[in-house]
Amino acid sequence: MSANVLASKVKKTEFAGMGSMMQLLGVVLIVVGFGFGLVVAVFFGGIGLLLLVAGGVKANVLLCSECRGKVEKAAKVCPHCRARFNQLDSDQSTRDEGESWKKTMRGG
Ligand SMILES: [Zn+2]
Repeated sequence: MSANVLASKVKKTEFAGMGSMMQLLGVVLIVVGFGFGLVVAVFFGGIGLLLLVAGGVKANVLLCSECRGKVEKAAKVCPHCRARFNQLDSDQSTRDEGESWKKTMRGG
């Protein structure tokens, strides 16, 4: 396994998975709440709306272009395949990490 693979973060909107599950649960809670009366509807509706919002946030994920694994927005290295991400949109250059990227320049 080479540790100097350069990868990029691929933005992906994920509809299948946790996000959509939470959104579905939110809608179900609102609908079920209305069946039980106004007070329950308001209570469950509040939780349902929270789940809808949380699910929508969860649906946006970043993927590693090398292994298609999920990565954190702030991650510099893929936790799955150890590929390094090129920081194109970061304005701060990391000077303390100079050694490893010199290796990348030499190897090839
Ligand atoms: Zn990866």
